[in-house]
Amino acid sequence: PCTDFDKAYFQSYSHVGIHEEMIKDRVRTETYKTAILQHQKYIEGKVVVDVGCGTGILSIFCAQAGAKRVYAVDASEIALQANEVVKANNLSDKVIVLHGRVEDVQIDEEVDVIVSEWMGYMLLYESMLGSVIVARDRWLKPGGLILPANAVLYMAPVTHPDRYAESIDFWRNVYGIDMSPIMPLAKQCAFEEPSVETISGENVLTWPHVVKHVDCYTITLQELESVTTNFKFQSMMRAPFHGFAFWFDVEFCGPTDNDADAPASESTKSNPRRKRANPNEALVLSTAPEDPPTHWQQTMIYFYDPIEVEQDQVIDGKVTLTQSKENARFMNIHLEYASGGRSFVKECVLR
Ligand code: SAH
Repeated sequence: PCTDFDKAYFQSYSHVGIHEEMIKDRVRTETYKTAILQHQKYIEGKVVVDVGCGTGILSIFCAQAGAKRVYAVDASEIALQANEVVKANNLSDKVIVLHGRVEDVQIDEEVDVIVSEWMGYMLLYESMLGSVIVARDRWLKPGGLILPANAVLYMAPVTHPDRYAESIDFWRNVYGIDMSPIMPLAKQCAFEEPSVETISGENVLTWPHVVKHVDCYTITLQELESVTTNFKFQSMMRAPFHGFAFWFDVEFCGPTDNDADAPASESTKSNPRRKRANPNEALVLSTAPEDPPTHWQQTMIYFYDPIEVEQDQVIDGKVTLTQSKENARFMNIHLEYASGGRSFVKECVLR
């Protein structure tokens, strides 16, 4: 059912600004464009569905790559604009804009390709991946192509003294006045909830931990309701540890080789629908701190007070991400972490 939250969500995509921001994110848009061209042999003469087409840009890339027909689906009013763009580019015979939810629209044929830009902050925020799963299970032919094919959510401990200084230490001396009594409130306001901001590779204390690996060909709706992982880091340096950063990457690679007789390798046994041609050559869209920034930035969870860690000090714990009961588009984060003999719990909501 389409809830009021869904209505508000689709309303947010009717504004041009959000599409402008995504399209101007060249890392994002050019990687999709390259991925579509790289997979031209799977798209040429084929039927495509674009899950959440927005302004229609990915649908048009697919039409340009020779798709026979593209179903461009969006529940937001932006679909009306997509339709005009399609007309202006003389693609009305190829691109069919459907204004409605993927869950509700009717497509009377199977499709060869699903393309979608579904990733939210911290990968799973917005939970739009669920709609890609619905499209896949309803329309995708066996052996069909999904772009992107998989995604990985990472986390790592970070140090960010500048951020702490500018929001918290700032109150120690304000035009010569000791305003430090404001510091507890400043900490609460700055760090109670997750924040989306760009950090650099230098802020990261050690190698990241994989929170979740998403295989778009096999993931289920149930698996997305709650994601839990235990982590264990070892700081590579002595530093004040201010919180955790989360980021993701997605990979664009080919579908099943359709070679049913080929002996199953270890990796294809666990994933019989797909065999990767050459994982090392796959095109990757990364939102990591060490890579060029994107509009997703990184998602940060800060502590109220930093923990001083020594080189090689262990930081371990557990994180659970759950779709909020109040609004399935929100994400509840439950974080338990321990270091140097002290342990902590933090609960917050990405909304
Ligand atoms: N593909 C476009 C827009 C991506 S933003 C681009 O790459 O620029 C995601 C879009 O998906 C939004 O326009 C949103 O309205 C749409 N969307 C999200 N969930 C949807 C659903 N269940 N059904 C239809 N459209 C959906």
